[in-house]
Amino acid sequence: MIKEFYVSTEDRYQLIDITDRVEGVVRESKVKNGLVLIFVPHSTAGIILTENESGLKQDWLAVLEKLVSGFDFLHNKIDNNADSHILSGLLGQGKTLMIENNRLIRGTWQQIFLVELDGPREQRKIIVKIVEC
Ligand code: ZN
Repeated sequence: MIKEFYVSTEDRYQLIDITDRVEGVVRESKVKNGLVLIFVPHSTAGIILTENESGLKQDWLAVLEKLVSGFDFLHNKIDNNADSHILSGLLGQGKTLMIENNRLIRGTWQQIFLVELDGPREQRKIIVKIVEC
């Protein structure tokens, strides 16, 4: 089973909790045991697991900005978003999680986030692929 949904973003860098959307897809799939791949088909966004706490979300943004500050990026001569591509590659553009008894296996403080790195964007596509196994 494969399902897509879209998220709109408001800031250049932004963390958006997509846990409920992904869990909805898992429930709807009726798959009891399997794997779920959450993938963003964009090279300027990422997928992470972290706690949904407002201070921590700001901390993430501060770290991301610092990681790419002070560089004279060559790509910026043509596109002005080298930072976005590099952070996207570092964070990764997908995660694979387990499903047991039609529920996502994750820790209490592991929410699933889309990380916008070159926003704002009207439509960031998220693909959720579920494999029964
Ligand atoms: Zn670019």
